[in-house]
Amino acid sequence: MEENYDTTSAFLKVKCNDCENEQPVFSKAASEVKCNICGATLAMPGSGKASIKGQVIGVLDQDG
Ligand SMILES: [Zn+2]
Repeated sequence: MEENYDTTSAFLKVKCNDCENEQPVFSKAASEVKCNICGATLAMPGSGKASIKGQVIGVLDQDG
């Protein structure tokens, strides 16, 4: 899976592969992030930035 988004941004918009729920995920999450709806893993902590397990569909810009 290619990740063309700028994952240095604080929050990514991630879509759950299981239930298609969309929720913001901190790109540098230090703990496992789970889907709010079905509990599927959306992100795992990695070195420096989180490893996104769901589908990154956008970036949430915090400016503004
Ligand atoms: Zn889900």
